[in-house]
Amino acid sequence: MAEVLVLVDHLEGAVRKPTLELLTLARRLGDPVAVHLGPGAESAAATLGEHGATRVLAADAPEFADYLVAPKVDALQAAVEAVSPAVVLVSSSPEGKEIAARLALRTESGLLTDAVDIAAGDEGPVVSQSVFAAAYTTTSRVTQGTPVITVKPNAVTPEPAQAAGTVEELSVSFGPLATGTQVVSRTPRESTGRPELTEAAIVVSGGRGVNGAENFALIEALADSLGGAVGASRAAVDAGWYPHSHQVGQTGKTVSPQLYVAAGISGAIQHRAGMQTSKTIVAINKDSDAPIFELVDYGIVGDLFDVVPALTEQVNTR
Ligand code: FAD
Repeated sequence: MAEVLVLVDHLEGAVRKPTLELLTLARRLGDPVAVHLGPGAESAAATLGEHGATRVLAADAPEFADYLVAPKVDALQAAVEAVSPAVVLVSSSPEGKEIAARLALRTESGLLTDAVDIAAGDEGPVVSQSVFAAAYTTTSRVTQGTPVITVKPNAVTPEPAQAAGTVEELSVSFGPLATGTQVVSRTPRESTGRPELTEAAIVVSGGRGVNGAENFALIEALADSLGGAVGASRAAVDAGWYPHSHQVGQTGKTVSPQLYVAAGISGAIQHRAGMQTSKTIVAINKDSDAPIFELVDYGIVGDLFDVVPALTEQVNTR
């Protein structure tokens, strides 16, 4: 069976959820082979094997210490040359997209980014992408070289599948770019205890209807009761009620969680662009004609100051 390379996204060996999603998708296309770069391959291998990685190609070197893109491209290229995979899958983070683009260029291969689904096809994988502010879904395939595909977080639910996950050493020779940049300092984000917005399975977002920074505590309380992340519309961000790093939409982040709750958000096309591929959408809005109701699975017409605390209480009592 053909092998499918999956680039592991991790911090010190702690594998991030999008990698498990990639392994789940990879199993549709062949035997997943994980590529783990930097420290922690041995500890990561157990998790990777439990999600279907038959092998873990591991490389560790000082060049990986700063988690930079260039050395990872060198290593992934070495893995492609060693394995001759049918496909290479990378997570659709900004870093993942840069790695994928550079790899595709080096291997003279076609690249497809931001896949929301992948199916096996007779002439190679068929990739679904959500385009034009999510107004269309396109299906595409790569016609040259080894397809390099980046996949959006939450495209699939990670499913366990036991495989060997045997660690094998990957030999890499680094190009001049590998040490061309250096990280000067690294400041950890202040932890809220909430999941990262683009990776969260549940997102609760507030809009102009929240009517003030202090009222975002209501949105946060509902998000916390559900174990979700907090998002915001641009109107709420522009008003200074919530940081831009939480903005969902065309000029913010794209999320595709299992559940998206929009409170006090009208549903402008630019907001939809960032959340329309969510699996289940719930909106709370006091205007029954708000455009957001056109795309919801469940709509609650009501005042968010009544509905959100009531929902939070209900969830907390369960
Ligand atoms: P509004 O459109 O003002 O809607 C507020 C809603 O809250 C209304 O529907 C109202 O009925 C409801 N409401 C009010 N009070 C209550 C209450 N007490 N209880 C319940 N409901 C209540 N927007 C984004 O979100 N993300 C983007 O990335 C983005 N990028 C953009 C890029 C460009 C180039 C442009 C031109 C615009 C962009 N916008 C973006 C802005 C977008 O067009 C909308 O202006 C914005 O999404 C509106 O935010 P909102 O829904 O919170 O506010």
